[in-house]
Amino acid sequence: MDLLQELEGVLGKANLLRGDDTKAYRADWMGKYSWHPLAVARPADTDEVAAVMRLAHEAGMPVVPISGNTGLAGGTNADGVLMLSLGRMNKVREIRQDARIAIVEAGVILSSLHDAVDAQGLRFPMTFGARGSAMLGGLLSTNAGGSNVLRYGNTRALCLGLEVVLADGQVLDIMSELHKDNSGYDLKDLFIGAEGTLGIITAAVMKLVPAPRAHATAMVAAPSLSGALVLLNRLQEATGGAVEAFEYMPGSFVDAHLEAFPKARAPFEARHDVNILVEVGATAPRDAMLAEDGSLPVVTYLEEVLVGLMEEGAVLDAVIAQSDAQRNEMWARREAAAEVMTRISPRVDTDIALPLDGVATFLERMEEILPSIDDDARHLEVAHLGDGNIHFSVLCSRNDPALMDQITEQVEEVVVAMGGSFSAEHGIGISKKPSMARRKNPVALALMRQVKTALDPKGIMNPGKVLPDA
Ligand SMILES: Cc1cc2nc3c(=O)[nH]c(=O)nc-3n(C[C@H](O)[C@H](O)[C@H](O)COP(=O)(O)OP(=O)(O)OC[C@H]3O[C@@H](n4cnc5c(N)ncnc54)[C@H](O)[C@@H]3O)c2cc1C
Repeated sequence: MDLLQELEGVLGKANLLRGDDTKAYRADWMGKYSWHPLAVARPADTDEVAAVMRLAHEAGMPVVPISGNTGLAGGTNADGVLMLSLGRMNKVREIRQDARIAIVEAGVILSSLHDAVDAQGLRFPMTFGARGSAMLGGLLSTNAGGSNVLRYGNTRALCLGLEVVLADGQVLDIMSELHKDNSGYDLKDLFIGAEGTLGIITAAVMKLVPAPRAHATAMVAAPSLSGALVLLNRLQEATGGAVEAFEYMPGSFVDAHLEAFPKARAPFEARHDVNILVEVGATAPRDAMLAEDGSLPVVTYLEEVLVGLMEEGAVLDAVIAQSDAQRNEMWARREAAAEVMTRISPRVDTDIALPLDGVATFLERMEEILPSIDDDARHLEVAHLGDGNIHFSVLCSRNDPALMDQITEQVEEVVVAMGGSFSAEHGIGISKKPSMARRKNPVALALMRQVKTALDPKGIMNPGKVLPDA
């Protein structure tokens, strides 16, 4: 019997897609990468994932896991090999209010987890624009970040335990619910962010937090990025660290957004270079209860800080959302970033991390350097400024791979010299493999290769991703 027949025996004909039935699995979200998988396995549970992996391992068949396929690094590229979709493993197994945990299968869509948890008066605090498609297994495998990292951390910080099917089909059950467990090496953290190169995440124990009772959300114009950091720090002090999001959009991004979405509105009457979307979440009842004069304390904190900073000149203008509709409008602008960027080409995208007080210097350095590489290049970025992550794109004059590589290398050069990282939250996939080869510490790279060989000696787990070719 050949492998596909055996897989059909395990999964049933309907859940081993072949030929034209694989159409929905042949390209990434950006349309940057496309491929033809041999077949797509759609297991229903961990036992079926294990059975698929045992057969693939025996046959030496590469396997590429796929969750929501919203990854931005080409990690689901699977030409001529088996894809394994987690989409049918979509149960929220349990929400335990007192322990503040959710036990989920890997195919649970992020927004479905939000809904399930909200219904219990709690919150899973990771969010970003692709929440309607991205799945927990994908979030864990890319160690996704998003807009609330400054308060709640990235996906790794929100995970207590994992279930992983290894390359040979063994099931590693480390579904710990513990906040403390120093019993040897932290295997969980090895699989988080591994982009499917070490095993297949099938389930996880995720942390929950209290749901904010109210939000104060505003668009703020600052004279400079350093002025914006004064606002961030002042607000953190005034609210006891309750700033949930601090997102930077330069004037050029606001212009590009208006061009892409002609029905959208500008955040301010005047055009500003530094626009910040700031959100404070009030979890304590005292911050969310209407005062006698009808004001909401969490909004009052924000207003007071903004008024003080306007007097000091560190804030130029501000609009505080007065309704859910206004809050949604502010978020829609920021969350449209991927759509705004992908309609412009040729383009070099990067996903870098810097110390918060280095972001302005980085942008100045790039302004100086870019004309020497490409006279007509412009840069366009958005940033999770609260955690130092910039999605810095260069709109270059021509579709010339050598020029585009040169731009990427120059960005890396500046970032690394400033103590930053060339990869903040989207992962390495295929797109950042050259950067891994150039910039990753060689000792770290050698250790990663040893880990890969130990866990996947036949090299069948998402081959060709993350690690540069030897
Ligand atoms: C509009 C938009 C906005 C975005 N905003 C953000 C943002 O703010 N922050 C952020 O971090 N990311 C963001 N992303 C990127 C993307 O949504 C995240 O990387 C997300 O975590 C990917 O989840 P997914 O389910 O789509 O994974 P996929 O794209 O299916 O997979 C991603 C990688 O993980 C591997 N993988 C998937 N599932 C498993 C599994 N169960 N076990 C092992 N490996 C697996 C895949 O092989 C691949 O290498 C955005 C993307 C879009 C399109």
